[in-house]
Amino acid sequence: MGIEAALPTDSILTTQFHRVSNWARRSSVWPMPFATACCGIELMATACSRFDLARFGAEVMRFSPRQSDLMIVAGRVSIKTLPVLQRIYMQMAEPKWVISMGACASTGGVFDTYAVVQGVDQFIPVDVYVPGCPPRPEMLIEGIMAIQKIIDNENLPRDPDGKRLPLQIAVQPNFQPAPQPVDVSIGAS
Ligand code: SF4
Repeated sequence: MGIEAALPTDSILTTQFHRVSNWARRSSVWPMPFATACCGIELMATACSRFDLARFGAEVMRFSPRQSDLMIVAGRVSIKTLPVLQRIYMQMAEPKWVISMGACASTGGVFDTYAVVQGVDQFIPVDVYVPGCPPRPEMLIEGIMAIQKIIDNENLPRDPDGKRLPLQIAVQPNFQPAPQPVDVSIGAS
């Protein structure tokens, strides 16, 4: 990575153990994709070459909860699917984080029905909300970077009993849609 050339090979670096462990943790976040609908396609796009999630060390999607530390809920969750989501979350090892990706995961989106969970944060602790329908890959990356900053600073909020509290960070939209390439006005002949 070039660091060998920048430093003489007989150098000694001193640091604190928690800094090294946090650096390693934030550089190798392994997501557990819980993709149930169209937001999952944007999640896939985020890992592909154009957006290249690997730049942030977070492209290794794991399909075993025991090997993942970041759950990304991408899409609507039905009441019937909810126990599966909760079980997977519980099987993930600490420290673990959760991103709620898109309007459906965070609020139920347009699916205001008895069959759809109206926000997964009612049932699992959500650390970062990524808005949009669907969110752009850049926004998801921003959500992952927000978690990386927290890992770097080891800034996990806890209640008086030492129980981990959700971070509840809302990512702000950062993408300006490009102008339409053609006139889409309605009614003009
Ligand atoms: S937020 Fe929009 S894009 Fe994402 S799952 Fe819901 S309907 Fe699909």
